[in-house]
Amino acid sequence: MCRGGEEEEQQQPLVPCLHCQPQECIRMVQHLIERCLILRMSRDECATALSKHASIHPTVTLTVWEGLLKENKDFFRTYSRIISDYTLN
Ligand SMILES: [Zn+2]
Repeated sequence: MCRGGEEEEQQQPLVPCLHCQPQECIRMVQHLIERCLILRMSRDECATALSKHASIHPTVTLTVWEGLLKENKDFFRTYSRIISDYTLN
């Protein structure tokens, strides 16, 4: 794993290292992003939440988010409209 020693010993990272197991890592980050979408989080809120709760670097989340966005343009167009309405209300 490419992690430094900043984590607590007993805290196992939820997601495999991006560099050692990229496909596993991306798949799990996608899954976590989907959970954020259910909670109607914005991209930045999602990156912050995954960083805090799953020790995923925001850059990784944003990269995976951009990949999802490219593959699901219609979904994200609708989604951003929904969450902006949600935020205003
Ligand atoms: Zn690694």
